[in-house]
Amino acid sequence: MPIIISDRTIISDFVRKVEEISGENFSKCMQCGTCSGSCPMMENMTFGPRMMILRANFGQEEQVIGDNTAWICASCHSCMVRCPRGIDIAKLMEAIRQISLRMNENYVEPFKIDEEILEELPPIAMVSCFRKHTA
Ligand code: SF4
Ligand code: SF4
Repeated sequence: MPIIISDRTIISDFVRKVEEISGENFSKCMQCGTCSGSCPMMENMTFGPRMMILRANFGQEEQVIGDNTAWICASCHSCMVRCPRGIDIAKLMEAIRQISLRMNENYVEPFKIDEEILEELPPIAMVSCFRKHTA
């Protein structure tokens, strides 16, 4: 998917919102990719942390919110520990989830989960999932 840069995408309201919620300055990122190389969930993510930062910095709100990366992130902080710029990427993921949930958009729809899957899931996993993935 190509990245389109325009005067609308640089320092957009979306970038400001993400930085305000997260308290982080993501423009410090130098795109070294250490975060993606350190992420234990990387193989399940479409973008991964490095691409999420790049796209968030370019104000690509729809792509960032529509991707599974922020929802798959386990908030393990491996990326932050190894980032040479000290960026807390888990906070970016949390900010993106918050922005999406504030639009009342669930990532997981509780009533659409297959009954067979529900029977297999431990209750603590369901509670954790609903707290993280539903508005
Ligand atoms: S490790 Fe840090 S500097 Fe490197 S790409 Fe990831 S966020 Fe950017
Ligand atoms: S905090 Fe999220 S993005 Fe960072 S390494 Fe852990 S799972 Fe990956």
